[in-house]
Amino acid sequence: MFRSAGLRLAAVSALFLLPVTAQTNRAVPREPLPPILTPWEIKPTTNDNAPFPGHKVIGNVYYVGTADYASFLITSEQGHILINPDFEDSVDIIRASVEKLGFKFRDIKILLISHAHGDHCAGLAKAKEMTGAQVMVMDADVPAIEHPPTGRGAYPSVPVSRVLHDKDEVKLGGNTLVAHLTPGHTKGNTSWAFKTTEGGKNYDVVVVGSIGVNNARDLVNNPAYPNMVEDYQKSFRVLKALPCDIYLASHGKMYGLNEKYPKLTAGGPNPFVDPEGYKAHIQLLERAFYYKLDWAMRQ
Ligand SMILES: [Zn+2]
Repeated sequence: MFRSAGLRLAAVSALFLLPVTAQTNRAVPREPLPPILTPWEIKPTTNDNAPFPGHKVIGNVYYVGTADYASFLITSEQGHILINPDFEDSVDIIRASVEKLGFKFRDIKILLISHAHGDHCAGLAKAKEMTGAQVMVMDADVPAIEHPPTGRGAYPSVPVSRVLHDKDEVKLGGNTLVAHLTPGHTKGNTSWAFKTTEGGKNYDVVVVGSIGVNNARDLVNNPAYPNMVEDYQKSFRVLKALPCDIYLASHGKMYGLNEKYPKLTAGGPNPFVDPEGYKAHIQLLERAFYYKLDWAMRQ
């Protein structure tokens, strides 16, 4: 879930209004870093759970998500994999997209998530009930799936069929998805890497798990997640090392869905083949992370 609006105001106001605390014992710049915020923090999207046209991204990879909550169907003759069932009330929108693209929702055999936040995982229980699919979740996010938060941010609990560990492979009908642990945003945040083929060419696909910081204050003195900073740093290293031609993410805005989709329908080269966009995304999120860390350490 995004809680960025308050943070944005807090970050920007703190940057300009608060005195700078000397942090001589820490490896941080003496002066505040200039604000580095992502476009979607500067201008939050709206109506994120509205229907969006399902479409083929490339090869056997299809977009079946909503206006911003990104869901991907990876198809095979032996059944399909769905990454991110999103919110509970996204599931019917996803099913409609899957079926409009000519696939059967009940042929989904495996349900995966980017991470255990409601906008990606709240629909797991409903999607599992509708398909009978196996739910596979990265080890460190399993507690949040089986014993979800109550109150704000609550979602239904679902039993995990298979607990994944870093670099585990999820295989179905010739597809092999590698689960890369990219923690920080959640402890089990997962980036999915796999190959697809189109026109005789092989492509490396990465569905980046969220690597943004929702609340900068969580980065320091966080008893619930004391090694959050080191985890983010590990995630940036992991993601920079992954080969990537097709860069996708847990939110459409994070990979330029609204800009790329019209180009896809207009014909011409596939706009989702964007290795430079991938590098730029990781770099932007890493710079935004250090900006927020710098801000948090000055509080
Ligand atoms: Zn999240």
